[in-house]
Amino acid sequence: MSGESNAAERAAALRAEIARYDHAYYVLDAPTVPDAEYDRLFRELEALEADHPELCTPDSPTRRVGGKPLAQFTPVRHRVPMLSIRTETDTEASGAYAFDARIRRELGLGEDDGPVEYAAELKFDGLAINLRYEHGVLVQAATRGDGETGEDVTQNIRTVRAIPLRLKGAAPEVLEVRGEVYMRRDDFERMNARQLAAEEKTFVNPRNAAAGSIRQLDPGIAARRPLSFFAYGLGETVGWQVPETHSGVLDALQEHGLPVCKHREVLQGADGLAGFHARIDALRDSLPFDIDGVVYKVDSLALQQRLGFVTREPRWAVAHKYPAQEAVTLLRGIEVQV
Ligand code: NAD
Repeated sequence: MSGESNAAERAAALRAEIARYDHAYYVLDAPTVPDAEYDRLFRELEALEADHPELCTPDSPTRRVGGKPLAQFTPVRHRVPMLSIRTETDTEASGAYAFDARIRRELGLGEDDGPVEYAAELKFDGLAINLRYEHGVLVQAATRGDGETGEDVTQNIRTVRAIPLRLKGAAPEVLEVRGEVYMRRDDFERMNARQLAAEEKTFVNPRNAAAGSIRQLDPGIAARRPLSFFAYGLGETVGWQVPETHSGVLDALQEHGLPVCKHREVLQGADGLAGFHARIDALRDSLPFDIDGVVYKVDSLALQQRLGFVTREPRWAVAHKYPAQEAVTLLRGIEVQV
């Protein structure tokens, strides 16, 4: 068999396997393989498609965000697409240097130009949500779905106490806030113990518990689940004075009463990012919630606009993960790897 047909067969097999895992993860909120294994297959497919561009089909998972929205929910068309984030494959500190070098190249910066200013924050492991406030009042909440169309989960989101139903301060015509619904580790353990005692469904990890709680049809159930929220970005805005930097946006959201994580910093260049990566690594186990890495974003919104987007991710941000910690959880006597 020729190398070409081997590559085509491998790409098709990877696509089918990834599609099965995507369904379990995004639609059923019940992953069947550890993320590190999924990421390995995804990167193999990306590399194959880079070497053989003719193999890259429009339905390839490398060109799409997330999963199909569930039909039971009312679809919500996002006014501003909800994208994914590129993952830096190098989990060592050198990953920060690779990202900075790419940004400098894309901005055409030379050695004499100063360092780029970045906003660094945590990569929360939960479910991405778009909150739409009109005249200061929460009118709609939607999941990311496939990035273009999400699911209307407003009733469930209203039960999350950390999410304000009305913004503080002057009310803009439209302010869409993006962030992550998550579950604290201690809340997750307590909830799973309760579920187990009541012989009800347990979840493999806090991420799936948060996603499963928001993506079910009975708001009464969501109300009993201990969910939290962190804001990390914007969707559509009308009549809102958009700050000049990402860090300024987060400050402004905080002033409107939205919860923003305190572990965020504005840093200069790759050295700054590498330092943040190491500091967060040291305190990661003591955080009350799961993270699967840190996120670096070019702080200036004008520069973000210049950098723009590629198919499924912005060019101005990257997720810098930590080496996978493969936890093995014992659930109802069954060993589940997550
Ligand atoms: P992602 O979760 O790696 O990154 C994008 C998401 O990060 C955003 O949608 C947002 O919700 C979130 N995020 C958290 N903190 C953020 C912050 N500070 N700023 C901006 N965004 C932030 O990407 P994805 O496309 O949602 O999912 C891909 C990942 O999901 C894979 O790398 C894999 O680890 C996992 N996955 C696993 C399986 C499996 O079967 N185990 C299947 C599919 C996906």
